[in-house]
Amino acid sequence: MGRLVRTEGLTDIQEEILKTVRQFVEKEIIPVATELEHKDEYPTDIVEGLKELGIFGIMIPEEYGGLGESLLTYALVVEEIARGWMSVSGVINTHFILAYLIRQHGTDEQKQKYLPKMATGEVRGAFSMSEPALGSDVAAIKTKATKTDDGYEITGQKMWLTNGGSSNLVAVLCKTDEGDDSVYKNMTTFLVEKEPGFGETAQGVTIPGKIEKMGYKGIDTTEMILEKHQISADQVLGGKPGQGFYQMMDGVEVGRVNVGARAVGIANRAFELGIAYAQQRETFGKPIAQHQAILFRLAEMATKVEASHAMVVRAARGKDSGERNDVEAGMAKMLAAEYCNEVVQDSFRIHGGYGYSKEYEIERLYREAAFMLIGEGTSDIQKMIIGRSLLKDYKL
Ligand SMILES: Cc1cc2nc3c(=O)[nH]c(=O)nc-3n(C[C@H](O)[C@H](O)[C@H](O)COP(=O)(O)OP(=O)(O)OC[C@H]3O[C@@H](n4cnc5c(N)ncnc54)[C@H](O)[C@@H]3O)c2cc1C
Repeated sequence: MGRLVRTEGLTDIQEEILKTVRQFVEKEIIPVATELEHKDEYPTDIVEGLKELGIFGIMIPEEYGGLGESLLTYALVVEEIARGWMSVSGVINTHFILAYLIRQHGTDEQKQKYLPKMATGEVRGAFSMSEPALGSDVAAIKTKATKTDDGYEITGQKMWLTNGGSSNLVAVLCKTDEGDDSVYKNMTTFLVEKEPGFGETAQGVTIPGKIEKMGYKGIDTTEMILEKHQISADQVLGGKPGQGFYQMMDGVEVGRVNVGARAVGIANRAFELGIAYAQQRETFGKPIAQHQAILFRLAEMATKVEASHAMVVRAARGKDSGERNDVEAGMAKMLAAEYCNEVVQDSFRIHGGYGYSKEYEIERLYREAAFMLIGEGTSDIQKMIIGRSLLKDYKL
């Protein structure tokens, strides 16, 4: 069957984009990834290279200077990038979600103002729902935007902003009082502009510093403190308050396809490392790949990579066709994340003691894989979404 994670029915343009990205990953990412990750160093040169390739504008329509590509193309690009270094896919992802939100829900003025600059990477996006006291339970947010004479005043604390330091535009979900009985209709997304960096990066907006993490290094993950931040009503995503929850859930759906794709990328790399090592390492007079226990492990790993890839592709194609895909995205994300952790664990075992050494790439993948279980909703939350939908579809 040849190499894993092939995709049927791609256009010539999609094939060309993937080939270019694959070459970039081989040449510019893989050789430096582990060293930069161990130093927790921001991949500035890689990010500049991705800007030149147009990856920051991959799904932004051509009329705004982007490549106008589909979610499928994006997901396949993410698989390639995460195979090289998962953190790099994180640099693009929140940017991509924000661009998607503006494309889908923004006013014409917001599209004109931000999308061309997002396509070049001049404006860099983050998105923020989570707070110190909540992540899964988004509707429990406390950050509040109060109406003023000429806009809103936002006060609250946000947590876990991927690209919180390097971005200059953040979609921030806030509580607003729309007088609706439903908590979901009393939330609004604001487009908060700030300078990149740390400290007070805009009036009433403080980014305290980087959160130290077990993996997913290189990329900045931060808190954001909003203290009477004054913002004009023009910065309400879509111009109309009360839509924020639904807009963010739409963004999270494409984000879930993205995390699924990242998990495929990590798992594919772990498989490649495992199958290479298994043919080189000898025990009891033969390469370990010839011990059936290792061979079976490799077979299971490859099957899990293929199954995850197929689910991610299906979810991306579903969303591209305009269908609601919360269940498909949830299934793809959950399966790919769980399988990714199993495949990485198997590759780690194949590496024996060397897998525990920082000299071997699998050590980094091991720490990266864990985040797949959490980001864009934990596996438990995916199960809730999938399970509730099943009960509706199969109602007696
Ligand atoms: C490195 C990193 C980057 C992140 N980047 C961003 C970002 O850019 N923007 C952003 O908004 N957020 C971001 N997050 C936050 C992330 O989305 C949340 O951490 C995640 O959704 C889980 O929320 P929580 O950490 O509050 O866990 P909790 O919601 O407190 O959950 C704790 C545990 O309880 C389980 N649980 C919760 N509710 C239920 C339930 N009803 N039934 C069964 N089990 C349940 C969960 O599965 C989990 O195992 C990031 C997180 C990390 C670690």
